[in-house]
Amino acid sequence: MSRQPGRQFLNIPGPTNIPDRVLQAMHRPALDFMTPEFWDVQVECKENLAKVLKTEGEIMVYAASGHGSWEAAMTNTCSPGDTILMCETGRFSESWGEMAEAMGLKVVTLANDWDRAFEADRVAEALAEDKDHAIKAVCVVHNETSTGITHDVEGIGKVIKASGHPALFMVDTISSLASMDFRMDEWGVDVAVAGSQKGLMLPVGLGISGVSAKAMAASETAKLPRKYFDWDGIKALENGRLRFAGTAPSHLFFAMREGLKMLLEEGLDHVFARHARLAEATRRAVKAWGRGNGPSLFGRDEAALSNSVTAIRMPDGFDADAFRGKVLAESNVALGGGLSRLSGKVIRIGHLGDLNEPMILGCLATVEMQLKRQGIPHGEGGVDAAVKYLAETR
Ligand code: PLP
Repeated sequence: MSRQPGRQFLNIPGPTNIPDRVLQAMHRPALDFMTPEFWDVQVECKENLAKVLKTEGEIMVYAASGHGSWEAAMTNTCSPGDTILMCETGRFSESWGEMAEAMGLKVVTLANDWDRAFEADRVAEALAEDKDHAIKAVCVVHNETSTGITHDVEGIGKVIKASGHPALFMVDTISSLASMDFRMDEWGVDVAVAGSQKGLMLPVGLGISGVSAKAMAASETAKLPRKYFDWDGIKALENGRLRFAGTAPSHLFFAMREGLKMLLEEGLDHVFARHARLAEATRRAVKAWGRGNGPSLFGRDEAALSNSVTAIRMPDGFDADAFRGKVLAESNVALGGGLSRLSGKVIRIGHLGDLNEPMILGCLATVEMQLKRQGIPHGEGGVDAAVKYLAETR
């Protein structure tokens, strides 16, 4: 078949569906980014990003993917040879740690099974042992996109505070922000790392950081080399206008202004509840498929299963990538695959961003149909379970 009719169902965990309103906001001529017209857009974006991050700290925006905000977090706060504590959660904690090592930092990883929620007490123990305060920062991925498990940022923030240890608290919110609650200031987060292409419903291309006063102070003495991401050079002016190390990514800002407006119109609590509901419908479908050794939920701690992405372990002997390859080729539904050690073992259904009931049901029905077509053993009634749950809840 040369043409796939209809729209592709984009159920990877980012980039996510871009709403038409956001697409249309970008459909405009380029402008002089050094003019008040654009400065107003920046100020509005900055103010609304602060509402989504729930912070009164500084907001930085870079023309970069999430990797840029990871790098900015490290280069602005650390000096060569500093130690950081990385809570192991999955492929993204691993690759953030690899980046820190490449920058000359010493990474101490608190090992954790990828299918388990990370326990905050582990951080308390590590900080208590660090009598000389060698640890510069504690890093955790709020929502581990590779495993579909959400980690206890609030709990870790509490133990860091209770320990009296001066370490900074850095949190990757790339696949949680604007999909599930995140409270930067209340949870004691010093650097929130974010990106545009997931819960914010925007194209990829903006890295975002929320930065506390403590992290800003650390940046004054931090010695890692930096220029493009240097907070001192790009932090907002008194009037709220952001600055850039180069040309401002103006079209992405028009997109962001509209996307943030949409999130706030819906109401953040409603956005989180919508994600929780669509995620629960997905989990109910997977639980039904899992009966009789079918595909099953990857995480072992039910309460920690993510509201933005569900990782599904395929039955032994069935290649997850071959399965999702056929789902894409035959049904035009894009699913996420397993990363690093989970490659070929899991599929991931992204249910974040601009998504509604028919979109998730279309995805689940297609997966169920393909399980049958591809002869993969599974329990019956997955879609029925999702429909029943959605019908009974609002
Ligand atoms: N951290 C998490 C949790 C992610 O899910 C991703 C990307 O999916 C990244 C970091 C890297 O972000 P990017 O691909 O935008 O550089």
